Formats: sequence, C-alpha cells, structure tokens
Amino acid sequence: MYETRFAEVLNSARETRKAVGSFTCYNLEELEAVIRAAERRKAPVIVLVSPSSFRSAGGKRLVRGFKAAGAHSSVEVLVQLDHVTERSSIERAAECGVDAVMADGSKLPFRENLAFTAEVARSMRPRGIGVEAELGRVEGQEDRTGEALAGAMTEPDEAVEFAEKSGADCLAIAVGNVHGNYSGTPSLDWERLAEIRDRLPLALSLHGASGLPDDDLRRAISCGVAKTNVNTELRAAYFGCLEKELGPASETLDLKRLGDHLTDAITEVVEAKLRVFGWTD
Ligand SMILES: [Zn+2]
Repeated sequence: MYETRFAEVLNSARETRKAVGSFTCYNLEELEAVIRAAERRKAPVIVLVSPSSFRSAGGKRLVRGFKAAGAHSSVEVLVQLDHVTERSSIERAAECGVDAVMADGSKLPFRENLAFTAEVARSMRPRGIGVEAELGRVEGQEDRTGEALAGAMTEPDEAVEFAEKSGADCLAIAVGNVHGNYSGTPSLDWERLAEIRDRLPLALSLHGASGLPDDDLRRAISCGVAKTNVNTELRAAYFGCLEKELGPASETLDLKRLGDHLTDAITEVVEAKLRVFGWTD
C-alpha cells in the first residue's frame, strides 16, 4: 500500500474527530481567502478545482498557480481536482502536480465504478496522488446554485466491498446530502452514515456541506466524516459582496478594492466553517 499525503491529512483529522475543509476556488481571491482562514484556524485545507475550471484554457495554469501559492503558507494546502470522470483529465491533473483527484464513477453501475476507481488508484497512488471516489450519487449542480433532491443513497454492503477493492483513500457518500441548495429542510440518514462508518476503514467525505445546519455538520463529523466539501456558500458570499459593491456607483469601482472585499467576505465564511469542523484553537 502506498500512503498518500491526502490520506494522511484526512486520517489524522479523523482520529481527532475533525474534518478537513475542502473549498472550491475559482480564482485567486477565493484561494487567498481559504488560505488566510486556514492559517488563522491552524487547519490543513483542501483547495478544490472544479472540472469546468480545469477544462478551461487556463486550467493547468490555475492548478499550478494554486499549488505554488499554497506552498507559501504556514498550513498544509492540498490541491484536488474535483469530480472528474475521464482518465485523460486525471492524467493531465497529475502532470500539473495535484495532490489528489476525485475519480467520480458515481454515474456508472457498481462494478464499472469499482473498476474505474481501482484503475485510477493503481496509477495515481504510487505517484503520491490521493484518490477519492463516490459511491451512491450526490445530486445537484456543482458550479451553479439550484435546488436538488437527494440522489441514490450509498449502500453499506456495497461500500464495504468498494473500500476493500478500489484502493481509494477516501469515499464520498450519499446519505441525503446534495450539491447546491437543499429543497426543503435537509435530512441526513444518520443510521446509514453510522453503519458505513462502523464497517469502513477509510475516510468518508461529505459533499454538499453548504446549506447543512452547523449541528448536522458537527454530528456528521462526530460520525466519522473526515472531509467536507463547500462550494455554494462561498459563491453566495462572493456574489453578495459583488452586488453590494457594484450597486449604483459601479463606474467609480476600484477593482483592487473589490478584490480585497471579496477576499474578506469569503475568508469570513471559510473561517466560520473551519470552526464548525473542529479547528477551534
Ligand atoms: Zn461534490
């Protein structure tokens, strides 16, 4: 077995009943916010690059830029390519130096998802690149905000076999969590989560942590979730700040100041989340 830095960071958080905050960043203002908040909380963080960012013309530069910026910080900053379905993108991400990839085979039938994940793990982990997989399906749009209903839930029996055979470092589970906004009050299947936690040796991740009440997040983390993905709430802070700044006087807008305010707004959200995730001192 090759231990990856990704697995180490997640497993040590898990041992102390914390979760590693994982935040989608589309630009440098957001990256700066995440790093600043992580330094304040003395927390390791994972910076997520969305597949749409990575596919765009500047995608490789974005990853390399995030990696370089992350190296200049007092905390551990890992960069992960999120929700990728094609081997070619995973390979390109590896060439750019990502610390982890999320190999998303959740739309495939169980056996195909397992084969896909195992193949990615075989090629990535010996190179020190962590692999997260998804079993069950977390519904909703990753880059846009829309309401989503809960997808297919993770089956504990399947999760056990998947953990044994896939070689993944971390498993994203579907227990009633969704990407984007929750339609109605979110209700997680706690019994399912507890059963999966009890039977699985590896770190679990919870996607769609935006919009879950803090008590639910704390409970999920105490139930063994070691990685929490947040995107929607950062975008809300970004757009909320833009709206306030642009207002009627947008012709006199100072772009640098706007960037600083955006960074401040997002830093606040990230820091509050990290407190909830257990990084309190
Ligand atoms: Zn996700």
